[in-house]
Amino acid sequence: MSYAHRLTGDRRIRLEDFDPAEDGGLKREQAEKKTAEFVAELSDLQELLYAARRQSVLIILQGRDTSGKDGTIRHVTGPLNSQSCTVTSFKVPTEEELSHDFLWRVHSQTPRAGEIKIFNRSHYEDVLVVRVHKLVSKEIWRARYHHINAFERCLADSSTIILKFYLHISKEEQKDRLIEREKDRTKAWKLSVGDWKEREFWDDYSAAYEDALNNCSSHRRPWFIVPADKKWFRNLAIAEALRNELAPFKKGWLEQLERLGADQKKAIEEYRRSRIVKE
Ligand code: AMP
Ligand code: MG
Repeated sequence: MSYAHRLTGDRRIRLEDFDPAEDGGLKREQAEKKTAEFVAELSDLQELLYAARRQSVLIILQGRDTSGKDGTIRHVTGPLNSQSCTVTSFKVPTEEELSHDFLWRVHSQTPRAGEIKIFNRSHYEDVLVVRVHKLVSKEIWRARYHHINAFERCLADSSTIILKFYLHISKEEQKDRLIEREKDRTKAWKLSVGDWKEREFWDDYSAAYEDALNNCSSHRRPWFIVPADKKWFRNLAIAEALRNELAPFKKGWLEQLERLGADQKKAIEEYRRSRIVKE
């Protein structure tokens, strides 16, 4: 059993059918221990991915304010080697970005072969916040599901492993977290009246997320619904999903490394032989 709910587009889902407070029947300590094990495995997989340079990995994090995108980056992918695992955060588009198509700023940030890239928000904002606040016409945002699917298919055809996580929190939990932020001096930088204003659009966001998840999931480009009311369960569910998705590639990466090693050994042996002849 896996803790995150993997969507492959074969059935329509409704968010209300998923409980944000799920915890897999685990205690916090148990979950943290398992998470640490998965993260250690992920580190090993990252090394092989990097060395084999066959695939790249794109991890997309989406969720409402306070849903835990930053916390996931700190706890789950933070321990990975930052030489080949980096984060790009997508904010309100600049004037230059707005004067191009919506994928322009995204495409240049996709990972190279061997690398892991985390998108903290992504091109999905263009069918979420943009739709909810009517920043473009319905005709324009509706066409974007098609554009997103075509774009992600292009990446997948170029050996990008695409894994998309929706961090699912409840409205009550969000309220608690927003109030908590006001009390915590170290989190003052995150305070934003905008978060309270966005909260008024809760149902519109739910509808927009449902459509994004239903319209843009497939076997090669799954969305995962991550129960995120408990931070430690959220970390576990994402760490486990990443490990489960990457582990099947391990054999191929090892074989590739063996081939590369054998080629290099042959070249070294030939070099040594040529030196002996000369000397
Ligand atoms: P934060 O993630 O808290 O740093 O906030 C980033 C803000 O940028 C969020 O309010 C997003 O909704 C907003 N944002 C990101 N992408 C877009 C976009 N394509 N159009 C409009 N707003 C966006
Ligand atoms: Mg914010």
